[in-house]
Amino acid sequence: MILHRVIALAAAGARAEWLLAGFCAVCLAGMLFLDATLAPIPFHFIYAAVTVVYGLRLWRIRGAMFAALATGASTGGMTVYNVIASNEPGPELIEVPLMTMMVIATIWHVRSRQRAAAVVAAVADERQRMIQREYTFFANVTHDLMTPITIARGHIDILGRSGSPTADELADTKQVIVDELKRIESMVGDLLLVGRLDDDGAALQRERIDAEDFLHVVADRWSVIGERSWTIDIDAPGTFVADGNTLAQAIDNVIENAVSYTSASDAITFRARGVGTDLEIEVADTGLGIPESAIPHVFDRFYRADRARSRTTGGSGLGLAIVRDVVDAHGGQVSIESSPAGGTRLTIVLPEYRRGPRARGASSARPSTAAT
Ligand code: ATP
Ligand code: MG
Repeated sequence: MILHRVIALAAAGARAEWLLAGFCAVCLAGMLFLDATLAPIPFHFIYAAVTVVYGLRLWRIRGAMFAALATGASTGGMTVYNVIASNEPGPELIEVPLMTMMVIATIWHVRSRQRAAAVVAAVADERQRMIQREYTFFANVTHDLMTPITIARGHIDILGRSGSPTADELADTKQVIVDELKRIESMVGDLLLVGRLDDDGAALQRERIDAEDFLHVVADRWSVIGERSWTIDIDAPGTFVADGNTLAQAIDNVIENAVSYTSASDAITFRARGVGTDLEIEVADTGLGIPESAIPHVFDRFYRADRARSRTTGGSGLGLAIVRDVVDAHGGQVSIESSPAGGTRLTIVLPEYRRGPRARGASSARPSTAAT
């Protein structure tokens, strides 16, 4: 017990390795000078000391392997010398590789335990983060759903308090309620989609669809209703694999942002290209731009950059999170560039594009979602 404490204390200190080296040197000297019949005692002490100190200090793999091989080489050399120069029995040599292998097996075992422990810690960390994310998610959902309900109720209460509301007051209240109900409707739609995508995109109905048909339908709807200087430039003769309605909803979110964060004097460019086996879709605008500090967060659920928060028409901050989830579920990539001075460009790259005339069986897959 006392010996163990002494070893633990010594081993815990920064000089544990030097103590070990000194101890091993003394033992090697013992092997040299002791009688051949006693030489195995310091020999075994060396292996025991290396194993015990390794157990306490847990060296990195390189250091541990160095210690095992140095121990094997030094004790091996000394045993060979004793067999040749003294009368130590030759079979003692067999112990050298066996003991070295024992140390290496211990190192290997410890390494596997360490790796397993690291995996368990990473899983626990991820779980903790997931619980935190879900907590934040539900807190945000509740808050964002309560806001329009509170606004609508407030207006109804005011109306109730005024004895005989005028036609204008009634019309205003009706408009507020309709707007707030629309907000709730759009949020619930977003949440349903988020839920579906959380299921690893398993619910997606993917099929090979005609790229140009699809992209024109999505972009043209917006260019009609959004009063901006539009450029629609699509060059993707061929097909690709997607869940048309879900992907259209994602692209709608991107274009909706381009419209929301620009004014009538701004320009919006919708560009699509078939490049190799990729379909690249790009939406660029000359609007507000996104502050640099906000860029890493825009794909987070419920994130809204400050400047956007101050605008009166409120979104929930789910738009780009949905875009990322939808693109991920299609095996693609999404990226955003923006300059704080103004202008934002969002690029979606989808795989499985095939250039050429519409493939047999490819649907024109006109998305059913409508721009609002
Ligand atoms: P909604 O859920 O209604 O889409 P939202 O538009 O605020 O709400 P996201 O679409 O996820 O949410 O966008 C997140 C934030 O990124 C926005 O609040 C806005 O600050 C910023 N953003 C996204 N696109 C643009 C853009 N084209 N120009 C400027 N800011 C943008
Ligand atoms: Mg948005």
